[in-house]
Amino acid sequence: MSEQPNRSASVERLRELVDACAALVAFTGAGISTESGIPDFRSPGSPWLAMPPIDYGTFVRSEAARREAWRRKFAMDDLHQGALPNRGHLALARLVARGTAAGIITQNIDGLHQASGVPDEAVVELHGNGTYARCLECGRRHELAPLRARFEETGEAPRCEACDGPVKSATISFGQAMPDAAMRRATEFTLACDLFLVAGSSLVVHPAAGFPTLARQAGSRLVIVNREPTGLDGLADLVVEGEIGPVLGALAPAAH
Ligand code: NAD
Repeated sequence: MSEQPNRSASVERLRELVDACAALVAFTGAGISTESGIPDFRSPGSPWLAMPPIDYGTFVRSEAARREAWRRKFAMDDLHQGALPNRGHLALARLVARGTAAGIITQNIDGLHQASGVPDEAVVELHGNGTYARCLECGRRHELAPLRARFEETGEAPRCEACDGPVKSATISFGQAMPDAAMRRATEFTLACDLFLVAGSSLVVHPAAGFPTLARQAGSRLVIVNREPTGLDGLADLVVEGEIGPVLGALAPAAH
């Protein structure tokens, strides 16, 4: 049998599950943003893996590592400048707007769910947000544009003008503690849903990747939409192997 009929049958099954559910929660990874031009983490040619990631401990200890982290951050920002929400983000936003989806738990740091119109309170960012920065000592928020202007002028890694603490992009690095409030809200969303929809994650980064398993254990249905197999496919009620844009777009088409 060709692949196409299987795929359309599974998209049809997904639509039935979505129509029948009382509370859907989406769980997204870097794969939902590739259609917006932001490369994912693990696919071949990933710019993220071209250099070994700088872990949290190294960032805190080393001024040279902080400079390098900021150099990479601004270089990546240039690559993704102007990225807009795509069909996948917009379909999820429609599911939230019509009340089918209670919320979105995301591992992404690109802010594209909020940019697609999902209210802040319906988005849980497990790995933080790369569109601003925070002082690691006093927690003060810093905007990127002035940090960048100073970095380009002085070549020094940014420090907080209030307390002189090191300033870091508001993302969670390897080795950094997970944000308590986000973990709590993600757990609440996961335990309250009856359909947990994963889109675009290799499901290998923990503890984030524990949420699909938790949902399944709590009695929710689990659906995984991804272009390649994941380690949790065996646990899922339905696996849709395909591109997120057309699959989610078919679930919640835009009104004409
Ligand atoms: P990952 O790169 O490990 O996995 C992404 C998965 O999505 C892969 O299995 C890939 O085959 C699939 N995929 C890619 N494009 C797809 C498409 N259009 N349709 C269907 N499937 C597609 O990503 P992850 O599991 O999210 O883990 C990576 C970590 O890196 C995350 O924690 C995240 O914080 C960070 N990250 C974020 C971004 C972002 O914010 N956009 C980008 C890169 C990395």
